[in-house]
Amino acid sequence: MKPECIFCKIVAGQAPAAKVAESEHALAFMDLFPSVEGHTLIIPKRHYDDVFGADDETLADVHRLVRRVAIAMDRALAPDGLMMFQLNRAAAGQTVFHYHAHLVPRSAGSELRIHGRGMADAAALAAIAARIAAAMPD
Ligand SMILES: [Zn+2]
Repeated sequence: MKPECIFCKIVAGQAPAAKVAESEHALAFMDLFPSVEGHTLIIPKRHYDDVFGADDETLADVHRLVRRVAIAMDRALAPDGLMMFQLNRAAAGQTVFHYHAHLVPRSAGSELRIHGRGMADAAALAAIAARIAAAMPD
């Protein structure tokens, strides 16, 4: 754990997050600054700044959870499309330097945005997290 890292604090239960699902090495929760409703992050529980420092076993587990959350989002939110992306280093648009994959439901014809503009309401995030969590595959 990196003491000043907000995602490490979420893993440790020292910062709030609307959790969706977890696995042995990974945690999924709602982005606090969603680009659209349903924007979810999947992170390794162990701190890695980005893809360059992460190990294969952890990333495999993270991306197994990405796929399971994607299935749940498709069931729960029925988006027209589902965008998956992962950014490394500031020049690529990374803003939190703890590895994370994004899942963003997409509506046909909607504007493409990477990051949200404002902080979401905690109750709204908890409600959508519960909807996705209820649709998780076994
Ligand atoms: Zn961290």
